[in-house]
Amino acid sequence: MTALADQVVELGASLFARRITSGRTGNISVRDGDRVLLTPTGVSLGALDELSVLSADGEHLSGPAPTKEAFLHLAMYRARPGASAVVHTHSTHSVAVSCMAGLDPGDVLPPLTAYYAMRVGALPLVPYHAPGDASLGALAEEMAREHHALLLANHGPIAAGGDLAAAADAVEEIEETARIFLLLRNTATTPLTPGQVAALRR
Ligand SMILES: [Zn+2]
Repeated sequence: MTALADQVVELGASLFARRITSGRTGNISVRDGDRVLLTPTGVSLGALDELSVLSADGEHLSGPAPTKEAFLHLAMYRARPGASAVVHTHSTHSVAVSCMAGLDPGDVLPPLTAYYAMRVGALPLVPYHAPGDASLGALAEEMAREHHALLLANHGPIAAGGDLAAAADAVEEIEETARIFLLLRNTATTPLTPGQVAALRR
């Protein structure tokens, strides 16, 4: 395996061990030159071995069959030419928030902490699509042009980053902030002010 593939296997084991995604859910990809290495379909992130290799336009070049959510990863790369990695999970608290009524679809979570504001920023909600509905790819691509992280309704977060660590950090930050948000429901809270958020993004 290449060093990049090793990093994907290591990240998958770490996310799985910490229950950021469980069962055989979640998928990771990384750009390797003009190819994309992607976690295979039907495999736990905790037990990755060989990765699927795709061309940039989604042709399966070698390795096992890729995750059925490969189209989402490719949509993120098309929308964000500077992105080198994409992480998608079905993290419990993020999924819980993605099922709530009355969310602001343009920005689902408040900026409760500086790390969230820096690593995620605004988190728009992508309306629900049934598994395998390819129109989700077109919509995610459109929304990802403005945002490196998205929350798929009734499904989970997806984030692109300049490297694997950045993409994983964003997904983990979404999950932790979703957890804090749920802990604070029914509690008056003081999110960061727009001025404080703007200062962090400078
Ligand atoms: Zn998914």
